[in-house]
Formats: sequence, structure tokens, C-alpha cells
Amino acid sequence: MKYCCEQMKSRANHKCEHHADAFECPDHLIKYSEKFDEYGIIIHDGGTSSITIEFCPWCGSKLPESKRDQWFDKLENLGYDDPFEQEIPKKYKSSEWYRA
Ligand SMILES: [Zn+2]
Ligand SMILES: [Zn+2]
Repeated sequence: MKYCCEQMKSRANHKCEHHADAFECPDHLIKYSEKFDEYGIIIHDGGTSSITIEFCPWCGSKLPESKRDQWFDKLENLGYDDPFEQEIPKKYKSSEWYRA
């Protein structure tokens, strides 16, 4: 995994001994979703929302374009119309489906 800058790297990999879940930790700002190849800023409203970002807030680099739509399209073609609730093929749970 290659990050655009050290800031992004350390933010995206933030580990906290007090909070197992990134969404519960106020210090955890960036969430990288491997399966969507998508960076988001976590909104700490008690839920699991995040805002997808296109540029790195620290160095300004263009971030990869989210593959979220393709992910849904591919799975729909395979017959999964509700992939968050269904048991989907393993490769769709990581970056494997678009790297292959
Ligand atoms: Zn924390
Ligand atoms: Zn950066």
C-alpha cells in the first residue's frame, strides 16, 4: 500500500489503544476503504458516516477515484443486489477484485 505522503499514511493507519473501532476514536480522521479504493474523512456523529475525499488534505495529491460504483455494478452482475447483507465472494472484500 502506497500513500501520497507521511501524514496520510499515519492518519489512515491510526491505531488507538482506547478505541478498537475507528469510528469511535475522535483522533481517527481518515478511513481508507481497500475494497472501494476510497479515502474518507470520518464524521464523528456516533454513526459510521464518512465523506469521500478526492484530494489529500495534507499534500494536495489527487487520490484514487472511488471504485464504489463499479463494485456495486460488478456484484449486481453476479446476482448480488444487496451486497452488504449478502455473503459475497472473498475477493470483493479486499482490493483483489480490481487488482486482478
Ligand atoms: Zn482513540
Ligand atoms: Zn498526501
